[in-house]
Amino acid sequence: MAAPAITGITHEALAAWLKEAGEPAFRGDQILEWVWKKKVQSFDAMTNLPAALRSRLADSFRLSALSHTQTQGSADTTRKFLFRLHDGRYVESVLIPANPALYGEQSDRRTLCVSSQVGCAYGCKFCASGLAGFTRNLDPSEIAGQVLAAEQLSGERVDNLVFMGMGEPLANLDHLLAAVTLITSSKTLHLGARHLTISTSGLVPQIRQLAEHPQQIRLAISLHGATDEVRQQIMPINRKWPVAELFAALDFWNSRKNQKLTLEYILIAGVNDALEQAAILARHARRLHSKVNLIPYNTVDGLDWKRPPDAHCRAFRDILKNAGVSATLRLEKGHDIDAACGQLRLKQETEEGIIAPAPGR
Ligand code: SF4
Repeated sequence: MAAPAITGITHEALAAWLKEAGEPAFRGDQILEWVWKKKVQSFDAMTNLPAALRSRLADSFRLSALSHTQTQGSADTTRKFLFRLHDGRYVESVLIPANPALYGEQSDRRTLCVSSQVGCAYGCKFCASGLAGFTRNLDPSEIAGQVLAAEQLSGERVDNLVFMGMGEPLANLDHLLAAVTLITSSKTLHLGARHLTISTSGLVPQIRQLAEHPQQIRLAISLHGATDEVRQQIMPINRKWPVAELFAALDFWNSRKNQKLTLEYILIAGVNDALEQAAILARHARRLHSKVNLIPYNTVDGLDWKRPPDAHCRAFRDILKNAGVSATLRLEKGHDIDAACGQLRLKQETEEGIIAPAPGR
C-alpha cells in the first residue's frame, strides 16, 4: 500500500498529523507553502523544517501522487501531460494557453483540463476515454495534484480549471469536491471557485446536489444532441436521464446559481449537425440563458465519426446567434480537449498490455 500523497492532505488534516507528531501547528503552513507555492521536488528541500520532521514526513507521505512520463505539444499550443499513478495506471491533463474562444472571454489566462477518473463508464460513442471502459476513480490527491504538476512542468500559473478530461467528474463527486477544497484553499493554490468549471454528460441527481454546493463553481453540460432521438445515438446516459429531465435539473441549477451555464456541443457530420437541431438547441439555450460552445469533431483513432465542413459549422452557429444565443465555434484543430482526451493514456496502457487494444485499432 502506497503512502498517501501530501497533495491530498488538507491544512486541518496536516495540523492533526503534526499535533500527533508533537510538532507545533505553524509547521503546517510551512509545509503547505513548500508543497504548493514553492513546488519543491523533495522533503529534504524544505530547509526551514528540522531534519527529524523532514525525515518523518518522507516516511509518512509521498510528495506527489503523479509521476510525469510524457509531454505532447509545445508552449504556444496545447500541451498534453501524461502521468503515471502509483498502481501503474495513467491519466492525462491538458494545458491550454490563452484561449479567448473558450467561454467567450477575452483572456490571456491558461486553462488546465483535468481528469477525474481512469477511463469512463459512460461510453459516449465519440470519446476515446470511454473506449476501454472504467478502471477507477481518482482520489483527491490525484485530481488536485494534476494542477500542481502542470504548474511545475510549465513554470506557469494555471488560472482556470475545466474538469473535462478523462472520466465523468460527477460520478466521482465526493473526491472531486475534496480536490476543489484543496485547490481553492488560501494555503495552497488559492484558485477562485468561479474559475473552475465542472463538465458532465448529464448526471441529473449530482447536478442537483452540486447546485446546493456553497462554492460558485461553474457547470458545463456535454449536450451533443438537442432531442432524445439524436442524443441517445451517441450518449447512452440519455436513456437514463432524457433531455427533459436534464433540462429540469438545469432549471434547478439556475434557481440556485448566478453564473451562466455552458452547453457543449460537438458537431459530428451526419449525426447531430442537422440545422433543425440548431433551432431546437437555440430554444433550450435561450430559455436557460446559457452559452453554447460548438466544437467540430476531432478524429479519434479507432472511431469512424467525421467533422462537418467548416461552412456547415458556421451555418449551425449562425442559427444560434440569430436566435440571440451567445455561441462560440472553435474551428482551429489544436484545442482538441474534448473528444481527444484519453487517447494518450489509451495508447500507453495498450502498449504496456494493461488494457486490450480498442475495437478497430
Ligand atoms: S465524453 Fe465524458 S462522460 Fe462521455 S465517455 Fe467520454 S469521458 Fe465519459
